[in-house]
Amino acid sequence: MICFYCGTENKESAIHCEFCVAPLKKKRPKMKESVYLEQCEWPFDELLLFHTYDLLVLLQLVREERTKAYNLLRTLQKANGDILIDSESLSFAKAK
Ligand SMILES: [Zn+2]
Repeated sequence: MICFYCGTENKESAIHCEFCVAPLKKKRPKMKESVYLEQCEWPFDELLLFHTYDLLVLLQLVREERTKAYNLLRTLQKANGDILIDSESLSFAKAK
């Protein structure tokens, strides 16, 4: 059995890698074909099974969305008073 962490060849019966002591029987999460923003709402138990790279991509998506919402809010704040924006849009921007 080949160690997922260091690539050392170990005996099939080994529980831990003889070089780096990493657990060999523990299933490692596999990378997904795609990650989408709505997955950030998934429960912790399911996100726990995501590959680290997928979690980083998901974090990037969340940060991009936050930046968009922030910029929209800034635009609405600057425009407040200059042009007429309906109260529904303003309350939506404030909620985000
Ligand atoms: Zn190893």
